Amino acid sequence: MAKDHVFDLAVVGAGPAGCAAAIWAAERGLSVLLVDRSKSPRVRPGECLHPGIEALFRDLGVLDQVLAKCQVRPLARTVFVGEERRVEYFGSDAEGPWRAFHLARAELDDILRDRAEHLGVTLRIHRSRLEPVVSGGRIKGIDLGGQMLRCAFVIDATGQSAWLTRALGRRPVAASPRMTAFFGYRCGRMFDEQMFLADAAGWQWVAQVSQDVVNWTSMHFGVHKAPHPPDVISSLSPCGISGGADVTWRMAPHVAGPSYFIVGDAALVTDPASGNGVLRAVMSGIKAASNARAAIAGQALETAAARDYEVWLRRWFVADVDRLVSMYDSLREDWQTPCVDSRVGRQSLPLLPSRSPLTSLAY
Ligand SMILES: Cc1cc2nc3c(=O)[nH]c(=O)nc-3n(C[C@H](O)[C@H](O)[C@H](O)COP(=O)(O)OP(=O)(O)OC[C@H]3O[C@@H](n4cnc5c(N)ncnc54)[C@H](O)[C@@H]3O)c2cc1C
Repeated sequence: MAKDHVFDLAVVGAGPAGCAAAIWAAERGLSVLLVDRSKSPRVRPGECLHPGIEALFRDLGVLDQVLAKCQVRPLARTVFVGEERRVEYFGSDAEGPWRAFHLARAELDDILRDRAEHLGVTLRIHRSRLEPVVSGGRIKGIDLGGQMLRCAFVIDATGQSAWLTRALGRRPVAASPRMTAFFGYRCGRMFDEQMFLADAAGWQWVAQVSQDVVNWTSMHFGVHKAPHPPDVISSLSPCGISGGADVTWRMAPHVAGPSYFIVGDAALVTDPASGNGVLRAVMSGIKAASNARAAIAGQALETAAARDYEVWLRRWFVADVDRLVSMYDSLREDWQTPCVDSRVGRQSLPLLPSRSPLTSLAY
């Protein structure tokens, strides 16, 4: 690394994706700057975490803290499709059944930020606009309102703000009709800890996120105004925030390039029915940090590190899209099967040669 780099990595966005990248890199001795525009993590949806995230929390050194905050860990979700009701277990292995993690996102984000700072990551709160410093086709650092901070790699983890894609004058490529998900909270306790209720109009998701708080999320085709909360929780009184988010399936046209990676929702979004947004955010943060480290250490060419990440993430996107299409196809006949844009989809999926040194890197 050249001497004038102040940091190995500058990570913008301290949600799950950015914190995972920062923690993974700091654990391996890289110097990391982590920048976020808000001082404290916000209350927000994204509180039902896939059981697969347990191994990642252990790797990142936060499993005990997460378990201490996690009041609800369901074994299964109850699915209602039309008149049919079924219980879907998450799975099991030699150590027992897999359990999801339900916990407040602000608490999870706090745990991850604390861990990053404990490892020596420099956390900066910067509320105003920040710019990538681009020179000779590379991102040399970030400009925090006149203060230029140099780094070997920038990781964009700004979630749906998609800071870097926009700053580079690009637009995410949509792969579905426009979709809006709405969410809110109710106080009280339900019988089933996770319920997914689907019909031809769309779906509703209800989850007990702590002992006495229930989150609901819904998506109805063609509906972009706040709906009524699901009937199953109508007896519970509203509490906390409510809102909506654009969950149109989309991916940035480039998620890696010379000196940068884009991770989490900043790289790609699918609607919450995919059930793995936070898992994907954490995994992509770790994968990007791992590939950046390989390039910094001279174990991989920078172009190969970027290419490997791009292929890995596109595969994930295509797999999620395939899974969602088959779910929606089973719900309604006239569902407009998404055309996966050629810049995003299968046609352009390049395969890495199996002997690539990057195929053995993290994930
Ligand atoms: C209604 C709804 C329900 C969902 N439910 C679930 C669920 O149950 N389970 C699940 O796994 N996923 C769920 N998701 C998806 C999940 O919330 C996201 O996939 C996840 O939050 C992505 O994490 P991230 O770190 O990429 O981004 P974020 O969590 O959005 O974090 C981005 C961070 O970047 C910061 N930031 C943004 N812009 C800037 C900027 N310009 N400068 C500096 N900092 C910036 C923000 O302050 C924030 O801290 C849901 C999504 C929605 C919309």
